[in-house]
Amino acid sequence: MKAIKLFAVSVFSVAFLSFSPVNKKLIVIDAGHGGNDIGASRNGIYEKEIVLNIGKKIQEFNSVQDKFEVILTRDTDNYSQLSERTALINKLNPEMVISLHMNNSPHQESERHGLEIYTQNTEASQKLALQISQKFNPCEVLGEKNLHILRESKAPAVLVELGFINNTKDREYLVSEKGQQETAQKFYDIFNEYH
Ligand SMILES: [Zn+2]
Repeated sequence: MKAIKLFAVSVFSVAFLSFSPVNKKLIVIDAGHGGNDIGASRNGIYEKEIVLNIGKKIQEFNSVQDKFEVILTRDTDNYSQLSERTALINKLNPEMVISLHMNNSPHQESERHGLEIYTQNTEASQKLALQISQKFNPCEVLGEKNLHILRESKAPAVLVELGFINNTKDREYLVSEKGQQETAQKFYDIFNEYH
């Protein structure tokens, strides 16, 4: 009887271990805005949609590897409060947090283009920002900013403005399948190179 019990326990453990992401470290991707909060918009294109699509693609790319598991703060067009997002983040205690946004400027057509990254006042956040910047040939790291997601996340966090929604080239690239795939692939590469 005892032997049967032990056998059952060990079969259970093997099954549990092989299906559980217990050994994976977590990465949180926060797609900004959502629901009634559309974020920045131009020509019927919404920031909330671009960042959600790219966030989901990052999760998809990442699903083939064992090192990290990507968790999204939202995977549909719903709005969750910033405080709910950071409560989730602090509960998960991830390796890193990347909040995705689109930039905007008061001009009809922005001359500025490309990524901009904001960080926390920590070495880990600044190191992650630098790594992202180098991957994107290099883009600007603007340093610390007092934003809820950066201030309240205990894990290393960065906020990435993926491009200007009012720069035609940035906008067209980031709504295109090719642009979204390439952007997601770069984040996946960053995770692989992260240590
Ligand atoms: Zn935003």
